[in-house]
Amino acid sequence: MSVRNYSIDAAMQTFVTREEINTWRTQQQTNEIKVGFVPTMGALHEGHLSLVKQAVAENDVVVVSIFVNPKQFNQHADLQAYPRMLAADIQYLEGLGALVVFAPNEQEMYPASLEFTPMPLGKIGTLLEGAHRPGHFEGVVHVVHHLFELIKPHKAYFGQKDFQQLAIIRQLNSYYGFGIDIKGCQTIREPDGLAMSSRNLRLSAEERQQALAISKALRYVQQQVGKLSIKETTREASAIIENAGLILEYLAIVDPLTLENCEAWQENQVCCVAAFCGEVRLIDNMLCESVL
Ligand code: AMP
Repeated sequence: MSVRNYSIDAAMQTFVTREEINTWRTQQQTNEIKVGFVPTMGALHEGHLSLVKQAVAENDVVVVSIFVNPKQFNQHADLQAYPRMLAADIQYLEGLGALVVFAPNEQEMYPASLEFTPMPLGKIGTLLEGAHRPGHFEGVVHVVHHLFELIKPHKAYFGQKDFQQLAIIRQLNSYYGFGIDIKGCQTIREPDGLAMSSRNLRLSAEERQQALAISKALRYVQQQVGKLSIKETTREASAIIENAGLILEYLAIVDPLTLENCEAWQENQVCCVAAFCGEVRLIDNMLCESVL
């Protein structure tokens, strides 16, 4: 079956049970179709859309999962407040190409009978988000493991906005031997610089303005590379965020592979930030410019 026939013939299908998606996936195997996969928690925005578009361009058919994963929330209030809008999400994806939506409920995602052996997260899992959100990456690994097993994609697409998550997913892929081609996709921003996020929907108009301090601080870091010391840069950039009224959890200039704090400028470092804007926890990161 060719790519073209598939996208013309098939309307977008939505599956909600493991059995449905499994049956569908088995049919694709017989047709040797290349399957792309974009896992999401819904409340879709242009950031998600860019992943989906890349996946559509690089595969014959793409599965978009929409599941607000309770296991990766370390705060019950955050889970409760997370925006849910499945019908609008499905509509948003219409017309993008050969897409299948998988939107299971919790029982379908985590049937009691389904065994799971957790992966050791290693040092990377203890830093940044790992240090501030206990259990978060364990929850991410759990859900992505189950989704990879069910969907068996050839390629899977993740945003660099969740930089540490991407590193953990690469680790997961090799630990469980999935052999999936993991694609890291660039962060999509609002015209004023704010990284797109489903959580932005929860910001008041005033908080939305305050939140701009995050991307402003990241751009400030880029400008200081090789000029100010890392220590001074970190202090000044943190002040940009705090002076805007946000509560900073961390701002760290880290090695792109180990995610450990750096004391001196080197190539390809990444500045990672997490801060509360009112009740809403936002994260962002930017590649620092090369100093060599
Ligand atoms: P989420 O629904 O927040 O779990 O995100 C689903 C996927 O979309 C993850 O791989 C995210 O990293 C990615 N993503 C979220 N926001 C953005 C963005 N602004 N630009 C690019 N990718 C994003």
